[in-house]
Amino acid sequence: MTEELDILLRKYVLQNAVKYGGKPQAGTVISRVMGEYPELRSEGRKISMLTNAIVKEVSRLSPEKQKEELAQVAPRLLEELSLTKEHVKAGLPALEGAENGVVMRFAPNPSGPLHLGHARAALLNDAYVRRYGGKYILRIEDTDPRRVDPDAYTTVREDCTWLDLVIDEIVFQSDRLDTYNEYARNLISIGGAYVCTCEADQFRELKLAKRACPCREISPEKNLELFEAMLNGEYGEGEVTLRVKTDIEHPDPAVRDFSALRIVSSPPHPRVDATVFPLMNFSVAIDDHLLGVTHVIRGKDHIANTARQRYIFDYFGWKPPVYRHYGRMGIEGVVLSTSQMKAGIADGIYTGWDDIRLGTLRAIARRGITPEAVRNAVLEIGIGETDISFSWENLYAKNRDIVDPVANRYSFVPDPVLLEIADAPCGFVAQAMLHPNDPSRGYRNLPFDGSVFIPKADLVCPGMIRLKDLFNIRLGEGKDCLVATFAGKSLDEARKAKAPIVQWVPPEHTIPCVLHKPDGDMKGYCEPMVALDAGKVVQFERVGFVRIEKATAMLIEAYWGHR
Ligand code: GLU
Repeated sequence: MTEELDILLRKYVLQNAVKYGGKPQAGTVISRVMGEYPELRSEGRKISMLTNAIVKEVSRLSPEKQKEELAQVAPRLLEELSLTKEHVKAGLPALEGAENGVVMRFAPNPSGPLHLGHARAALLNDAYVRRYGGKYILRIEDTDPRRVDPDAYTTVREDCTWLDLVIDEIVFQSDRLDTYNEYARNLISIGGAYVCTCEADQFRELKLAKRACPCREISPEKNLELFEAMLNGEYGEGEVTLRVKTDIEHPDPAVRDFSALRIVSSPPHPRVDATVFPLMNFSVAIDDHLLGVTHVIRGKDHIANTARQRYIFDYFGWKPPVYRHYGRMGIEGVVLSTSQMKAGIADGIYTGWDDIRLGTLRAIARRGITPEAVRNAVLEIGIGETDISFSWENLYAKNRDIVDPVANRYSFVPDPVLLEIADAPCGFVAQAMLHPNDPSRGYRNLPFDGSVFIPKADLVCPGMIRLKDLFNIRLGEGKDCLVATFAGKSLDEARKAKAPIVQWVPPEHTIPCVLHKPDGDMKGYCEPMVALDAGKVVQFERVGFVRIEKATAMLIEAYWGHR
């Protein structure tokens, strides 16, 4: 143990050294280790002595050597240093039995691109792999040909890259059908499974009445024959299924003799030529064991599946992983059901998987929401068992923290009206900062030549408004509303008069702009310089953060992020 503890502490000391410019701090290391490994708290004295000794050793190494060693012995701790504090802390509870590293998996069905619900599973498991070190497996669960969308083999992986998951290995379940069949034979041989030829409805009735079906009594030898017949195509779809013998009186009917393998003859599978496919609980249990998965974090909707999967672990005498089930997360305001999204796209209701009315990661990426914001929001939600509803406002707040310091500012005038300013000093050029906290980024020039476009919503007649970075104007009444008069340059006066500070664009230096929002488009004008930020998130002043998707000489297209 001392040696193992040595190794563990050295990793954290090295990380601390790299973090603090080559000078590790014993106290910080100790509190980090105690926080991560509460079970070590009883060994406080020993830990403190060892840490102090290791700190001395590590301090003698050059910063380059420290970093080199850290990269070698604990690459994830090195990586962690480039993450924000939410990534590391995230309020996630310690996982039992994780001290020596974990093997975890993210196991999506490739039925479409990933959405926010997937992101929670993907990022929580990822956070624990980063925290404890070990291995992260992306397991593509493609054993239901009816639910495989061939494009999703690519889109799911792209989405994992976007989320910056630390995937070490990718496994396709469709590559492993022989393995599942082999374990099915083993399970039959030990009397743990049987081939059931009952009609589905007939079995259902028996099951609900806690009664076994006649097939349950057939001998393993006969069952092996029936299983080979099933594999050899002697049965058609729906005629036969392999069932795991559980407790026929189990309180949850879903657990009673559940199906493990079945025949699906159409549609053909896009990757393999087969008709017998495992159902989720069978392939998941076999793979979790064979791939050495130590911890499974998934939603409460999998609780019945966990009960079923435990039967398979028990039959084979395997140690099951540690399971944690987090509460349900309602996500309002977007479409999340893959089948609904798919049908909507086919019918032309949605433009594609990145239509911003959908809850896919590509839709939110299109709105300029960063993967870091998704990660921070999801980790903050954590693995609690309470059902919650997803807070878009919280996601927006996390994103604002990230984009606000970097987004350039521009004027966008939605629903524009043209205002003549009768007596204003022409030839004046307003200089507006690209970023209010960073003058070094420079300025945008907005030349004033007698008239401006302002948003219709800001037309308060009569009244005073300040044209941002320009001067104050007074709006007339009735038909004079659109003929404004110059009202001085003083910002103080505008403030005293509580005049709204309004964004504007000069009619001669402007470009049409459409801002796509989930609830409809906003049309107007913006500064032509916005084109320089194509592909980036900018702030349209007084409107919100948007992502500039496209910029041509004729039109700017932006997508709404948040305020
Ligand atoms: N592929 C299944 C799902 O996405 C299984 C996931 C799991 O066991 O965590 O629901």
